[in-house]
Amino acid sequence: MSPRNGLSVEDVSFGYGRATPTLKRVCLQVGPGEVVALLGPNGSGKTTLLKCAMGLLKPREGQITLHGQDLRRMPRWQAARYLSYVPQATDIVYPMTVFESVLLGLRDSPWYPDQASLEKVERVLERLELTPLATRPMDELSGGQRQKAAIARALVRDTPYLLLDEPTNHLDMKHKRDTLEILRERARIQQQGILVVLHEINIATQLADRIVLLDNGQVVASGAPAEVITPEHLRAVYQVDVGIAHQDGLPFVMGYR
Ligand code: ADP
Ligand code: MG
Repeated sequence: MSPRNGLSVEDVSFGYGRATPTLKRVCLQVGPGEVVALLGPNGSGKTTLLKCAMGLLKPREGQITLHGQDLRRMPRWQAARYLSYVPQATDIVYPMTVFESVLLGLRDSPWYPDQASLEKVERVLERLELTPLATRPMDELSGGQRQKAAIARALVRDTPYLLLDEPTNHLDMKHKRDTLEILRERARIQQQGILVVLHEINIATQLADRIVLLDNGQVVASGAPAEVITPEHLRAVYQVDVGIAHQDGLPFVMGYR
């Protein structure tokens, strides 16, 4: 993929203060229809990288481009047409129903929703099996239900790129699998480019076209799942010895010690 045709993070360094940088010359690309999984230990800079890619944090060096255009030079409303974001789960919930929360994904300022918007929300809720919860207040949901509502709020926007921070946290096996299917469908059918932070390596290998492994703010490995998910890389990054099996050419972590 050429940087002219996708979301491109080019040699990005970022620091929160004057201390050592949190991201060091990070490069990654997400093209239309591509799923890229971002893996790495706690504190390795995954969330920080997503926030830079969203334009929420300004890189110290390097640049982020969308179809060749510098994100910093883009007005917020224009960037918002390209990008949707599912933040890492927080306990902050607003006093509104699931329906209202998803509807808010469609607009940034006060407005009166038209019929098409309401139907869009209904379709997304249906696809995520959230319809029975539509009128429930967000603060009365379980962690997993809230997580799905957050995913729905991003999906309803139908932007070319979707950035998700640990979207499968709090989800049980069925809902993890469903989320995986929905993201795959979004990439294949709607050609959305997806950058997703995951902790479960086996979900990443099933979902992603490419995996980027981050450690201490640096890209340690990047490429097809079979190239990145190796005992050597995982030992170097997570300090554990893993057993890996292969099925249909994909690596699966069988256990670790
Ligand atoms: P990850 O998502 O991979 O767990 P983060 O990107 O959240 O990692 O954090 C990377 C590093 O940056 C950590 O050392 C973390 O403590 C630090 N950090 C994160 N957010 C802030 C912040 N708002 N201010 C200062 N340091 C931060
Ligand atoms: Mg994080």
